[in-house]
Amino acid sequence: MIILNGKETAKIITDEIAELVKKRKKEGKKIPHLAAILVGNDGGSITYINNKLKACEACGFESTLMRFDDSVKESIILNKIQTLNEDDNVDGFIVQLPLPKHIDETKVILSIDPIKDVDGFHPMNIGKMTLNLPSFVSATPSGIIELIRRYKIDTKGKNCVIIGRSNIVGMPLSILLSQNKEFGNCTVTLTHSQTKNLKEVCKTADILIAALGQPLFVTKDMIKEGAVVIDVGITRVEDKTKVNGWRLVGDVDFSSVAELTSAITPVPGGVGPMTIASLMMNTLKAMDLKEQ
Ligand code: NAD
Repeated sequence: MIILNGKETAKIITDEIAELVKKRKKEGKKIPHLAAILVGNDGGSITYINNKLKACEACGFESTLMRFDDSVKESIILNKIQTLNEDDNVDGFIVQLPLPKHIDETKVILSIDPIKDVDGFHPMNIGKMTLNLPSFVSATPSGIIELIRRYKIDTKGKNCVIIGRSNIVGMPLSILLSQNKEFGNCTVTLTHSQTKNLKEVCKTADILIAALGQPLFVTKDMIKEGAVVIDVGITRVEDKTKVNGWRLVGDVDFSSVAELTSAITPVPGGVGPMTIASLMMNTLKAMDLKEQ
């Protein structure tokens, strides 16, 4: 069994990007600039944003964080998005989700210029991705494909079962992995909360991807021997032995499942760092597109 080390792989990608950026700087060219909008004080969102800003620094990118109070009006966020759409110095930007209930997430996503939509959430990007046209692919699915690519995992003709059909993880992954391209060509089953006989379906998987947000949901009896298991879940669970009182747990019961697999991602240190590395790759791409 091999551990699919997302942390190590993400570091390699970051170093590759940093090298490119250094070269651009030397040549007097613009360096990529990622901006982020954060609304409120949710602990998880603050951690995610901080990790993204740290990654920008490691890549040599410029970054700008714009923070707003929980009670901010929707119109203020929409105006800020418009400003970022028009700001030539900003190559790409993200609005950290979730947003407070009084702000319409769909409206927010639709107001982002698709050429700066480095999270790949805009319908224009999702549509292009679906048709296998050049687009921004949302960071978690593209990070998983990149991990598969870097570890040269054979996907052709494999049965892939994905648990969870969200617009940011399961749904795009099901499309990418079924497309006719390298590190695609899987026969994909996209399962969800209404799926019957989930255990039996999972047992058919050569590649099992868990993205449902239920800690330790995937157990040994759901795994086909030799399967590749990718754990997207990240949930904070109480842990009094930790200084902060919590720890991160994945959707897969790693301790019992790992021995049955041929390859598996850990949590933390698996998909999470790859998601951030993908966002950096998308930002670099946004700058390239602007220069074309
Ligand atoms: P979501 O809540 O939007 O979607 C969850 C999906 O799981 C839904 O489609 C639902 O139908 C399905 N589901 C829920 N319970 C189920 C069950 N018992 N059986 C089968 N399907 C079930 O979640 P999301 O935004 O896709 O996130 C999923 C998990 O991945 C969360 O833990 C989240 O924190 C994590 N996540 C991690 C990263 C990362 O970078 N590692 C990025 C995004 C999300």
